[in-house]
Formats: sequence, structure tokens, C-alpha cells
Amino acid sequence: MKATMKAIVVSDFGGPEVLRYVDMATPRPEAGQVLVRVHAAGVNPYDTYMRSGNYRPPTLPYTPGSDAAGVVEAVGSDVNRVAPGDRVYTATTLSGAYAEYALALESQVHPLPERVSFSQGAGVWVPYGTAFHALYQRTHARPGETVLIHGASGGVGIAAVQLARALGLTVWGTAGTARGLELAQHEGAHRVFNHAEPGYLDQILAASGGQGVDLILEMLANVNLGHDLKLLAARGRVIIIGSRGDVTIAPRELMAHHAAILALTLWNVTEAEQREIHAGLYAGLENGTLRPVVAKELPLADAARAHRDILTPGAAGKIVLVP
Ligand code: NAP
Repeated sequence: MKATMKAIVVSDFGGPEVLRYVDMATPRPEAGQVLVRVHAAGVNPYDTYMRSGNYRPPTLPYTPGSDAAGVVEAVGSDVNRVAPGDRVYTATTLSGAYAEYALALESQVHPLPERVSFSQGAGVWVPYGTAFHALYQRTHARPGETVLIHGASGGVGIAAVQLARALGLTVWGTAGTARGLELAQHEGAHRVFNHAEPGYLDQILAASGGQGVDLILEMLANVNLGHDLKLLAARGRVIIIGSRGDVTIAPRELMAHHAAILALTLWNVTEAEQREIHAGLYAGLENGTLRPVVAKELPLADAARAHRDILTPGAAGKIVLVP
């Protein structure tokens, strides 16, 4: 282990330019802690909201990132579940994932099956944890139901497509580019619709024979929630996963369909739910049902570019940073 490491540090909230690539002391694991040599760090939209200081701002200075994949470098006393040399992914860290080494609690480190690359492993926790929580624990999706994944080309959307397809749902997904549509279909969507094209909502309703869909996973509620309520089948539900502003809805649409709006944030999942999520994800990653898609690998020093790119339309899987 090196005494110093490269890491991204944010000392002031602001635009992508506040992500500085610096040298800093490599953290040392204390009791119950694990030091991971990071091979790849996942970039999530949430990292950009935190960096700008307008959503759950952390204490400054800090190193961004919750999703790292790599190899255990060292462990503190009382660590029993992992050992140096183990391949792991993190589900949040203590010191930040955008670095050569990340310190985590033992409970935040999970085994990464051999068949999953480190770059894929950096796309596990937030995307797959969120999709799993939405489908299995919040909406109780059932085989045979029809799900519309409204935003199926990004990290969470692709995870949801793979999970819902494996569970036996009829899976419809949206994307805004030909590449995104093709990817969603390749990963398991039975039908795809272009959310950048006028009239696509009518196409979705027509595809359901006018009946609507049972379940909607919504990645951009401030744009879509009002329209979603018109697409729901009787007793359908929509779950809000992403939103970047306010929206007006017509409650009578809900009343007419006996429908429900649910919502989630991943940081609110209980410890029991987390255990269930990681067990489910490990099984799916190990048997190849879950295959994180890496759109772009960038050097850690290019974190600012990654933060610009992730908010640019045209998603096709995960953006990861490689130290
Ligand atoms: P991402 O990889 O950047 O993907 C964004 C997705 O949104 C893409 O599929 C994109 O499609 C789609 N999108 C763009 N415009 C849309 C529209 N008008 N209607 C429907 N979808 C549209 O982001 P992600 O990691 O998948 O996350 C998706 C959202 O969920 C983000 O807002 C994120 O902050 C949020 N999220 C929330 C939680 C939570 O705990 N609640 C956890 C994870 C993520 P195109 O690029 O093809 O247009």
C-alpha cells in the first residue's frame, strides 16, 4: 500500500470544475473497517447533485462516490467477512469511491463474482440496489405484470430491465436515442419507445390495447408523472425513482384507476432490506442474469468530464472512473 494516493476532492460546492485531482494520505483501516484498492468507481447522477450542494450536501471537503469495485488491500481488527485479496464492490464508503483507495465499514463491502469485471462492479450498488428495491421491496412486482421503465437506457433503467425480465414481467422501456433503444431491447425489454418523440405516450397506451400498464418505474418524475397517471391500468402503481423539479398531477387520474404513487430513496433502505438486496444481487451477478453495462471508462483525473457527461442525454449504461 502506498502512503499517498490520488483522489478527487471537493472543497467548495459548485460545477464540475470543483472536482480536484490531488495527492492525499492513504487511509488506514481501524477496527471493523476495510481498505479497498479501487479498480473502478461508478458515477451516479446523485454525485453531481451533492457536488453542487443543492441536495443532501456533505461536510466539506469530501471525496465523492459510493460505488467502488476493487480488491481488499487491508482490514482492521474484528473484520471476518472479507480478507486481503478478495474481489469486492462497495455500497457506500467512509472515505469516498473516487480515489485509488477507499475506506469502508465491513458491512459496506460485498463479494464481487469472478465473472463480473471491476468496471461492471462499479455499476452495481446504486443502479441495481435501486432497481431491486423498487421492483421487489416497494412495488412487489409480480410475474405476468407489464412494467414501463420510463428511462431504460441509463444505469438504473438497464438494471431494472434485466431484473424485471428475469422475474417474468412484460418489460417495456423508453430511451431518447437509437443507441439507448437498442441497448434496452438487447438487455431484455420486449418493446421500446422513444421518449424524445412526440406521440410516444399514445403509442404506449395503444400497445396496451388502451388498458394501460400495471407498473411504471419513473426516472424523471418532474417531466413525466402527470402523463404516467394516464398510462396506468386499474390498480396500477408508479414509483418515483428520479426527479429534478416539481410537477402538477391530476388526482382524479389516480382515483379513476384506483392507482398509487410510490417513491424511494436508496439511503432509506433498512439493514434487513440491504441484506436481502445484496443476496439477490450476488445470485444474479453470479449466474449472469445481471450484467452491468459499461458505457464509458474515463481516467479518475477526468471526473469533471464524467459529471458533465452523466447529465447529458443519450445514456447507454454506466460511466465509470478508473484510477
Ligand atoms: P442515468 O444513467 O444518467 O440515466 C438517465 C436516464 O433517464 C436515461 O435512461 C435517460 O434516457 C432517461 N431520461 C432522459 N430524459 C427522459 C425523459 N423525458 N423521460 C424518461 N426518461 C428520461 O441515470 P440513472 O443512474 O439511471 O438514474 C436515473 C434517475 O434516478 C436519476 O435522476 C437519478 O438521480 C435517480 N436515482 C435515484 C435513486 C434513489 O435512491 N431514488 C437512486 C438512483 C438513481 P436517454 O439518455 O436515453 O434520453
